[in-house]
Amino acid sequence: MKIADRIRRLGTETAFAVSAEAADFAARGNKVYPFHIGDLNIITPANVMEAAVRAMHDGKTGYCPNAGIARLREILAADVSASRNVKYSMENVAIQTGGKPVIGKFFMALMNPGDEVLYPNPGYPIYESLIEFHGGKAAPYTYVEGSDNFDIDLEMLEKQITPRTKLLVLNDLQNPTGAECSKAEFEKLAELVLKHNLYVLCDEAYFDIRYAGKSTSFASLPRMAERCLILYTFSKKFAMTGWRLGAAIGPKSLIDVITKLNVNDESCPNHFIQYGALEGLTGDQTEARKILDTLKKRRDAAVAILNSIEGVHCFCPNATFYLYPNVTSAMQKRGLTDYDDFRRSVLHETGVSFCTRLHFGRPLDGESNFYIRLAYSGINTTEIKEGLGKFKAFIER
Ligand code: PLP
Repeated sequence: MKIADRIRRLGTETAFAVSAEAADFAARGNKVYPFHIGDLNIITPANVMEAAVRAMHDGKTGYCPNAGIARLREILAADVSASRNVKYSMENVAIQTGGKPVIGKFFMALMNPGDEVLYPNPGYPIYESLIEFHGGKAAPYTYVEGSDNFDIDLEMLEKQITPRTKLLVLNDLQNPTGAECSKAEFEKLAELVLKHNLYVLCDEAYFDIRYAGKSTSFASLPRMAERCLILYTFSKKFAMTGWRLGAAIGPKSLIDVITKLNVNDESCPNHFIQYGALEGLTGDQTEARKILDTLKKRRDAAVAILNSIEGVHCFCPNATFYLYPNVTSAMQKRGLTDYDDFRRSVLHETGVSFCTRLHFGRPLDGESNFYIRLAYSGINTTEIKEGLGKFKAFIER
């Protein structure tokens, strides 16, 4: 069978290979501490589940409108308007089967072959994959260590802009670094967006996974709402990763195109699941709040141990459920210079499984520091302490 040429340009999430290695190690009778998965080991709030089951029994099992049920679009528009300080109505919302589909649809709607797209690297690997798959040119910008978290390397970002640059992907509250833009960073980015006539994908997957302070949307800056498409997801806030429900939120003209892509692709988002999401947004928030409390305890436990390890330095982000410690000195101490050797040695000797910088986009020239990514969404506090205790002993041995 001759597979189409375009498939050669399609990347993947190599983090799934780390999951497979960890599963294989566990199947051989070993204890694994799963820090590699950006998934939750917390169950969806009961009221959300009950609402979806009720909807099924009420017959919401057929197709629904292509952009999702009207009530969810209305409620989500009101919710996002309030939290982002931007005025949206249901016409600005197209429900999707997860947040992820928004990425490809944004490129399909706005990128022509040869157009250049600024994207974060390290970053969620699907951006790089889909820019290239759809015939664009992926132009990376990176993050550098600041005083209390990572900052966007704005100088690099600006240098990457050419007359062919059309789009910017911004994942504020970032996977994998946990970085959060300052007001000044937002303002500089908005200035560049206007100067170079760019459109922006605001990947806000972690907007509500926040332990202190308040999330701000780039779309709320002056003149940005008309240029931004927000990726919204129910996956993280309501521990609904496997349900597959999210939304594209932005200017009506773009939402109309995205809805047309829905028609051609999945027809409509899953029908009864949307009633669960409605309950999530409008019903009792006790369990959703508990999810955040649990995650915060895990973060604090993990950061404390990581920063007690000789040769490891870790910021404590106020949002996301990721940590991105600098392990350069720790690797040197163990005489390791290769990411995969380090990752596998730690897995085999301690059971601690994590992703490395290699899983978040093609490494850039001149990178001299080494980073790993730990997700604390799929592992309990007791296991975090036990696993990272073993990691510490491994490094300091
Ligand atoms: N964007 C980022 C930055 C992510 O980390 C993820 C998932 O991990 C997604 C988007 C997509 O999530 P979902 O499709 O479950 O909404």
